[in-house]
Amino acid sequence: MLKVYRHISEALTLQSAEKKDGRNLLADDLSIIKNAAIVCDDSKIIWVGPDDNLEEKYKRIPSINLTGKVITPALVDSHTHIVFAGNRANEYADRLNGVDYQLIANRGGGILFTMSQTRKATRSELFDLAKKRIETLMSYGVKTIEIKSGYALNYDKEKELSEIIFDLKNYFKKLNILIFNTFLAAHAIPTEYKNSEAYLDSVVLPLLTDLAKRKIIDAVDIFHEQKYFTTSDTEKLFKHAHTLNIPVKIHADEFNDNKGAILATKYNALSADHLLCTGKDGILALANSKTVATLLPGTGFFLGKNQANARAFLDSGVKVALASDFNPGSCHCDNLLLLASISGPQYKMNLAEIWSAITLNASHALGLKNQGAIIPGFDAKFSIFDCETVSEITYNWGKNLYSKVF
Ligand SMILES: [Zn+2]
Repeated sequence: MLKVYRHISEALTLQSAEKKDGRNLLADDLSIIKNAAIVCDDSKIIWVGPDDNLEEKYKRIPSINLTGKVITPALVDSHTHIVFAGNRANEYADRLNGVDYQLIANRGGGILFTMSQTRKATRSELFDLAKKRIETLMSYGVKTIEIKSGYALNYDKEKELSEIIFDLKNYFKKLNILIFNTFLAAHAIPTEYKNSEAYLDSVVLPLLTDLAKRKIIDAVDIFHEQKYFTTSDTEKLFKHAHTLNIPVKIHADEFNDNKGAILATKYNALSADHLLCTGKDGILALANSKTVATLLPGTGFFLGKNQANARAFLDSGVKVALASDFNPGSCHCDNLLLLASISGPQYKMNLAEIWSAITLNASHALGLKNQGAIIPGFDAKFSIFDCETVSEITYNWGKNLYSKVF
């Protein structure tokens, strides 16, 4: 069925940003159309332009009047860890009292604490917890969500987590929400295994084969870091994923410059994420690749660490995305709009860079081709906001202007 939106105060199309592949963006690359009209059917955008230029045949169709509203490409949260049980509020309090994240991990906190809570939870409890969290993300205008497994760390329960994400994907498809299922069994090393390689060989690799053959998962990820998974583990996993035609992603260079960004480009990763410690060589490798650099402003902010050097990535022509990293430990924040607001002054990003990072570039971080810009032929996925200009959305930081009506 055709839908016609008319008299939109501002339509953020990102048409110019899309032409530039989301790189080296200037303010004008927002490609805003004032008093705009958009025509789409149930799946694709058919026409976009100034309302004055709308063709007569579309003017005859009953339209939705968006005077006083802004329309943007639907938001994409391309890095979340939504399926887990329990919370880590105590640990947060410890951290504020000066206890280091690594020390918390060493004494059984961190990922391993969430693992114990997640293992105890039933399948339906985990589904319901995740469903509620997804609904909160949706309340900010997010319509594509990447979800990682990785809080069970044994064969059977990790399998269940990937299956739960698959179930969520099917459930939310009916609501026009796209869930992207990332397999992150290589998230931490459970104490049952003597080292990372033993865990990788016994659990991660065989489970990956099983899930890939059943077409449950969309990508593979790994926590590449000292005391977690080594470069050789990562290469072994990536090579195996490639034989199964599954694209790869990586948690890279978060605590140290481990050359994770370079590794990502070597294996054509969809994205390399975190990147707080990436050196010049890693930034150059990313600039010369299709791999998206996904920066996670909430995590550095919440842990009180130095942030990634976003300008170094942006000024080198790297394609940068922003995501929430919503998880129970290092970033218990599901509000992508708030994190986008913080990224302006924290990362010194202009609005074209910010908006591209939470729509177009974030969709590329999931290997999606026809999302993240308002262009004829692209998917008809929009977010509508209760304000008259694009600037107002992130200017009102901490306030949710996403329209609940449309
Ligand atoms: Zn993560």
